[in-house]
Amino acid sequence: MISNTLRRLALAALLSFTTAVDAVAEDGPAKQLFGAQALPTVGAPQSAGFYAKGCLAGGVALPVDGPAWQVMRLSRNRRWGHPRMIALLERLARDSAAKDGWPGLLVGDISQPRGGPMLTGHASHQVGLDADIWLTPMPKRRFTNDEREKVEATSMLRGDTLYVDPDKWTSSRTALLKRAASYPEVERIFVHPGIKKKLCDSVQGDRGWMAKIRPYWGHYYHFHVRIRCQPGSPNCKPQEPIGADDGCGKSLAWWFTDEPWRKAPEPAKPVKPKVTMLSDLPKACAMILNAPGPKSADEVTYGAGAKVAQPAAAGTPATAYAPEGGDLPEGVPAQ
Ligand SMILES: [Zn+2]
Repeated sequence: MISNTLRRLALAALLSFTTAVDAVAEDGPAKQLFGAQALPTVGAPQSAGFYAKGCLAGGVALPVDGPAWQVMRLSRNRRWGHPRMIALLERLARDSAAKDGWPGLLVGDISQPRGGPMLTGHASHQVGLDADIWLTPMPKRRFTNDEREKVEATSMLRGDTLYVDPDKWTSSRTALLKRAASYPEVERIFVHPGIKKKLCDSVQGDRGWMAKIRPYWGHYYHFHVRIRCQPGSPNCKPQEPIGADDGCGKSLAWWFTDEPWRKAPEPAKPVKPKVTMLSDLPKACAMILNAPGPKSADEVTYGAGAKVAQPAAAGTPATAYAPEGGDLPEGVPAQ
C-alpha cells in the first residue's frame, strides 16, 4: 500500500537524519575548527558552498614534489584540493614545461585538508577549487623544507607602481597564463591589474582566453587559478559566468583610478569584526568536519600510487552529504 511505503520512507529519512545529527560538529569559529584539521575526509570528493564560504570533502594532496612542480610553505598544510584541481595543477605543470618553456611550478596555497576558512590570509580557497601559483620559475634543484618556508617570490611590479616591470615580465609568463586559461574547467585566473594591463597591451592574435584573466588586488607575485564547481557537488555554489569580453576596456581602466586603492575611512566607533561560525557555513560542513579521515596523508596523496576517490561522473547524484538550500550570504567578496 502507498501509505505503508510512505511511512517506511519517512522512517528511513528520519533514521538517516538522526545519524547525520550525531556526526555534526559543535558550533564554533569556523577558521579555528577547519584550521585544526590535519587530514581530509575519505570518500567521494564534494565541494560545499562558495569559494569564500564553504568546505571540502574527499580532498586529496598535491605531492610535495613532482617532475615539474614543488609545493612551497609546507608548514601551512594547504596543499589539498578537489582531485580535479590537483589533476589540473599536475597537467599545467607538465604542459607548461613541455610546451611553454616554463621550468616548473612553485605552488602556493590550495586549500586546507577539509577546506573552510583559514586562520591567516585568503577570503577564498575554501572549497578546494582555488590554487595560487608563483610567478617565480621553479629552480632546477629541489628546495629544502626550510627554503620552502623562507624563499620569497618576486613581485612583477616596477617599484611601488601599478605597472609591470618590463625587465621582470617575460613571454614565458604570458604563455603560462594562456596555458592555464586554456583548460575548460578553469573559469577565472586572478592577477594584479598591472599584469592584466601588460597582457592587454602585448598579446597579439588570439585574445579569447584573456576573458578568464581577471584583475584583482594582490596577485603581483603569484596568480590564482579557480576552477568551476565539479560534478558530484550538488552543494557547490557557482560563480556567475564570465562574458566573452577580453576585459581590457573600462573595467580595467577603473583599477588605474584612485578608487580601488583608497583606504576605508576609520569608523567613528571601533567595530568588532564578525567571526564566521561553523553554523554560518553550509550545513554539510558540520558533517564534513566530523567525518572520518584516512590514517595518513600518504593514503590520500594524488597520483602517488594511493587509492584516491574519483569524482562522480557528470550527472551522477551525490549523496554523501545531504543537499542544503542555503543561498550565498551577502557580502561575500567576488574573489
Ligand atoms: Zn589565491
